[in-house]
Amino acid sequence: MAEENQGTTQEVKPQTDRKPNSNNNNNRRPNNNNRKPNNNQNRNGGDKPAGNKSNNNRNKNRNRHRRQPTPVDENLKKFVAHNQEAHKQRLNPHFKLDLNSKAKIRITPLGGLGEIGGNIMIFETEKEAVLVDVGMSFPDETMHGVDILIPDFSYLREIRSKIVGIIITHAHEDHIGAMPYLFKEMQFPIYGTPLPLAMIGNKFDEHHIKEHRKYFNPIIKREVYKIGNDFEVEWMHMTHSILDSSSVAITTEAGTVIHTGDFKIDYTPVDGYTTDIHRLAHYGEKGVLCLLSDSTNSHNPIPTGSELSVAPALDRIFSKAEGRVLLSTFSSNIHRVQQAIQYGIKYGRKICVIGRSMERNIEIAMQYDYVRFPKNIFIDADEVARYSDKEVLIVTTGSQGEANSALFRMSIGEHRHIKIKPTDLIVLSSRAIPGNEGSISGMLNHLQRAGASIAMSKDIHVSGHASMEEQKLMLRLVNPKFFLPIHGEYNHVMKHRETGIMCGVPERNILLMTDGEQIEVAPKYMRKVKTVKTGKTYIDNQNNHQIDDDIVLDRQKLASDGVVMIVAEVSEQNSKMLSKPKVTTFGIVPDKQDKAFAKEMEDVLEIFLTNIKEGLIENSRALENDLRQVVRKHIFRKMKKYPLIVPHVLVH
Ligand SMILES: [Zn+2]
Repeated sequence: MAEENQGTTQEVKPQTDRKPNSNNNNNRRPNNNNRKPNNNQNRNGGDKPAGNKSNNNRNKNRNRHRRQPTPVDENLKKFVAHNQEAHKQRLNPHFKLDLNSKAKIRITPLGGLGEIGGNIMIFETEKEAVLVDVGMSFPDETMHGVDILIPDFSYLREIRSKIVGIIITHAHEDHIGAMPYLFKEMQFPIYGTPLPLAMIGNKFDEHHIKEHRKYFNPIIKREVYKIGNDFEVEWMHMTHSILDSSSVAITTEAGTVIHTGDFKIDYTPVDGYTTDIHRLAHYGEKGVLCLLSDSTNSHNPIPTGSELSVAPALDRIFSKAEGRVLLSTFSSNIHRVQQAIQYGIKYGRKICVIGRSMERNIEIAMQYDYVRFPKNIFIDADEVARYSDKEVLIVTTGSQGEANSALFRMSIGEHRHIKIKPTDLIVLSSRAIPGNEGSISGMLNHLQRAGASIAMSKDIHVSGHASMEEQKLMLRLVNPKFFLPIHGEYNHVMKHRETGIMCGVPERNILLMTDGEQIEVAPKYMRKVKTVKTGKTYIDNQNNHQIDDDIVLDRQKLASDGVVMIVAEVSEQNSKMLSKPKVTTFGIVPDKQDKAFAKEMEDVLEIFLTNIKEGLIENSRALENDLRQVVRKHIFRKMKKYPLIVPHVLVH
């Protein structure tokens, strides 16, 4: 054990002083000498004769030994130095980069930092740019009537003529969800593996922009593609909670940048396609300028389990189920669905897939030969009643308790074909995305009220993101000079930064980005250079159209503080009031006080309009502003609220 501990300190040492520094060797050598006589018994300072106060015989004997050190073989010692030099060469990325190069690359996240989702990253040389992923994110509960958020494309408009392509890492919504919105405005060649392209194609079809499929450039992993003049890109296979994920190595004159996409390191993936750690190591060996790595699970010290690790729990659940099994998971997690289906088949159940996204994703995975199932195992929702309960597995959407999902509709008895029975077993093979806990809990209440049993233990779900240990493996394989933790809120990237430092990246070589910050990376330095415009565009899913920011602001005001409507009539000649102003309010006072409250404000406005000086009002617009001010002041004084105030001035 003692030897092992010392060995670890040794490995860390050259990392903390990564500058080629000849003093290192001198510092380290005495340690090696100390190691020889060391053993478990004298580890706690016993090898310092002068300061040793425990005077038992054993120690005395040892001290006597000490005075006659074993002779040092000078040749072996020389090889210790040679090996130390070899470690230094191996571990120090400085030696692998062309420090004389004047080339640089600029990296700008337009989304995905300081938030979960909405990923989009720009890589720019002097003349050209590529994007990595164009994702969407979800609104919070204050964004009334907003279904999805897409990144603000302002900066892309600015550099539009520089963009030579879009690189896609994988098919999750937070990486491809904003593609149709971008393509309605501007188009670029899209590079990616088949599954993400098929899913983008689906989106293009839904948005009636089928013709943009012509921008697809399917790629083969492990081959290097030239994009524009400045970029050479290789896709490397990664394991994640969706099939066909990749990290990318982007090489420019400045060096190679590796963007991991989303990943975990699964040594036993369901399809047998393991993370391509060999290619990552290959780049690490050659020298990597900068690593951008997934921070989502950076707080988790326990290694993320293999997707296969859910199998025993699924088997146990399926073997015991007496009635129907309804399993819900993320519709994009095809490997989870595949495992569920396999256990369904094993226990003699037919499979009924319900939920638009689930049906579509399974269909694509089967069409493109990512998974294979016998055709005769699937049944439609209206056929379920023809089978006995023990012969049915329903795989469905709704693991987040979404109000329009199939499982939620079943839970409240509003699904056309499936009514929940007391013998049903509901398996939630997922985790709650932060913010969805309330809706999931609500759905569980409904399901249990209908009598169903629920299985949602920890062992029937596993994350798709790298924990600390896998992040360390990534850092060690790639061995980058500079490190940019990405994908996550501030606390996630902050934690990932610590892991980076532990894995030998000097603190000064790590930057924490936020959306819109542009980072310049060159072999000699990395620094923030400027900030570009970022933000979110609100989208209404009913029509796929944008909702302007002011609409959402108005809705927030209406929801929190109510609305006041004012109608006033004034004479065109002298701006004098023609009749008493009328006030109507909503969401401010209870109905029974409505009239009194309106009258109170009408009186205030009347006084204001009576006392107004003739000719002071230039137009009805100015008068409307004045009325708004009067009412705002009055309501704030009385209620400490700022409602939406809508004045109408009619000039006769
Ligand atoms: Zn993902």
